[in-house]
Amino acid sequence: MSTAQTTREGPVAVIRFGEGPVNSFGHATRRALTAAVDAAVADPAVTAIVITGNGGLFSGGADIKEFGTPAMLGAPNLHNVIAAVESSPKPVVAAIDGICLGGGLEVALGCHYRVAGEGAKLGLPEVKIGLLPGAGGTQRLPRLIGVENAINVILGGEPVPAKLFKGSPLLDAVVAGDPLPAAVKLAAEKAAAGGKLPKARDLKVRGANIEAILGFARTTVGATFPNFPAPLKCLDAIEAAATKSFEDGLATERQLFAELMMTPVSRALRHAFFAERAAAKIPDVPESTPTREVKSAAVIGAGTMGTGIAINFLNAGIPVFLLEVGEEALAKGVARIRDTYAGQVKKGRLKPADAEAKAALLKPTLKYEDIGSADIVIEAVFEDMDVKAKVFATLDRVMKPGAILASNTSTLDVDKIAAVTKRPGDVIGTHFFSPANVMKLLEVVRGKATQKDVLATTMKLAKALRKTAVVSGVCDGFIGNRMIEQYSRQALFMVDEGASPAEIDAAVEKFGFAMGPFRMSDLAGNDIGWHIRKRRAIEHPEIRYSKVADKLCELGRFGQKTGAGWYDYRPGDRSAYPSKVVEDLIAAHRQTLGLASRKLDAREIVDRLVYALVNEAAKILEEGIALRASDIDIVYLTGYGFPVWRGGPMCYADEVGVYAVAQRMRELARNPYGDPGFWTPAPLIQRLAAEGRPFNSVGAKS
Ligand code: NAD
Repeated sequence: MSTAQTTREGPVAVIRFGEGPVNSFGHATRRALTAAVDAAVADPAVTAIVITGNGGLFSGGADIKEFGTPAMLGAPNLHNVIAAVESSPKPVVAAIDGICLGGGLEVALGCHYRVAGEGAKLGLPEVKIGLLPGAGGTQRLPRLIGVENAINVILGGEPVPAKLFKGSPLLDAVVAGDPLPAAVKLAAEKAAAGGKLPKARDLKVRGANIEAILGFARTTVGATFPNFPAPLKCLDAIEAAATKSFEDGLATERQLFAELMMTPVSRALRHAFFAERAAAKIPDVPESTPTREVKSAAVIGAGTMGTGIAINFLNAGIPVFLLEVGEEALAKGVARIRDTYAGQVKKGRLKPADAEAKAALLKPTLKYEDIGSADIVIEAVFEDMDVKAKVFATLDRVMKPGAILASNTSTLDVDKIAAVTKRPGDVIGTHFFSPANVMKLLEVVRGKATQKDVLATTMKLAKALRKTAVVSGVCDGFIGNRMIEQYSRQALFMVDEGASPAEIDAAVEKFGFAMGPFRMSDLAGNDIGWHIRKRRAIEHPEIRYSKVADKLCELGRFGQKTGAGWYDYRPGDRSAYPSKVVEDLIAAHRQTLGLASRKLDAREIVDRLVYALVNEAAKILEEGIALRASDIDIVYLTGYGFPVWRGGPMCYADEVGVYAVAQRMRELARNPYGDPGFWTPAPLIQRLAAEGRPFNSVGAKS
């Protein structure tokens, strides 16, 4: 099928272009649209042209699947499309509805006139994938809306409601409803009036203090986004629009775009963009898999996680039962939910009536008999197999047939939990992250028996709850916590060897992590790891741990919640202050080990932490616990504060090169105090290194 169709409204040719969900400007669409414009120009019966997107929207922009492939450069490119409309001797009007983003907006900017529907949104989101608008957007937009507004649109990257551009030369009209009739009328009028056709390229960038505005923006951007090259390059391009001829400005834009395209940061951001979309795809559970209806939910346990999970349902407008063992715990949980909403109202993020409406969907209860009608139940009781087994036996008895039985366990075996019930196919893991109402990540744990429709329903539900879901197989810790375990072990070994918690945190935070391991542990509660280590000591006595964290916990230093952990905390202040007690504790601990303390540099600290993650991830990938390397990246980007501009641990390892990672691991194995076994590259790393392949080539393709 052609991706541009022409119809006629009197003497006006109406070209509708695009296919797929967002009419992206892939090669076929570019070719079809250019041909349709050329044909309309050549048709003597046509006096004017309107271009508009199919399906109620203009265009989502360039087809970024083409980036880095020959199709991206295949003529006609976006510049050629824009040249076709801009150089038309007959007026060309863009009728803009729905979204008009990126390359879509750049095409519209090349038209002589633009008419938008009131609900339309315009934007240039390229900065979000580490690029700049490369088809004249940085040159035409400032000419139409001025430098300051162009900075906001181009550096903000967010879609802007058309209404905000009313009265500016960017939009000739903003109309209620479908913009097409108004665009056709305008096109016919302009053709009848004759005269010179307006082109954005012919305008001068107007406005006072352009230099000062750009200078201020540079300082702000440099300080706010030190690791992102694109925003500053966007400013360079906008400056070129203000100071150079259109042609020279366009050449500058092209040059800057090419430079950005080659940066690791843009590669990482584009990787993350695709990775998020890929994570929703499960090879043996196609999109056509039927799903169950989820119109009501129940949460068991009104603690930290249970209340956060319940808020997710309330926010999505899904009524939720909240069940506890005792009156007091239930009241506390309900109060926590109400406090969360009150806080949002106070900050002006929520209207009081909306908060009330959400809270009204909560149905607190102490009786299992009340919750049997729920379509899904999520268990969030203590992390103890016996407690969970009892809860699931009860759920099996009370829940209606077809209800999904989910567990929020962080480490326990979902298959064992499922085996307690007579319906293991309905059981699944839904591992939320704390705070559950804030964190984007949801690990969806697919048990051996989990039915496909249960998995498909849970993935769909995740979207409704505005979570980024990643499928994990069953293993201790699933994807994220199984990897962080190795990272934490390394962090503690480095303390044994001579690094301070503050040095380790600083090194890894400079690498880009939101928080280093010790500040993170103080936030989550050091007792959680202590509890897990005690269990591991019984289940896996062969695994070596530093004892320093246990000694900290023996002092009751559980972190922020006890006012003391690896750092000291002051009331009402979340800042971490170095602690003399901890310094002495570590010094005494090192003495018992008989280790001569040594200085560890930032490179060693970062390599040991990040490669500990990568090596475990390689095992996870090979065992099929994760479907693809990019799923692991999404887990770390959305759940563990890994720097987005590095694309996740696997993307980072691919950027360094798997061969170089393996080489460095062998070097780390030579540390006389270390655990050489720890640093044996996982078989997958060895294989990829030998074959010269990246992690990104492993696992499910879609
Ligand atoms: P929590 O101690 O804050 O809350 C547990 C709640 O469950 C308590 O209110 C308790 O009264 C209630 N409870 C205990 N037994 C019950 C029963 N039989 N019936 C009903 N309610 C019962 O614990 P939490 O941190 O919310 O953790 C809950 C689960 O979520 C655990 O499996 C944990 O591993 C997992 N998890 C925790 C985190 C985290 O950061 N806290 C993150 C992800 C997953």
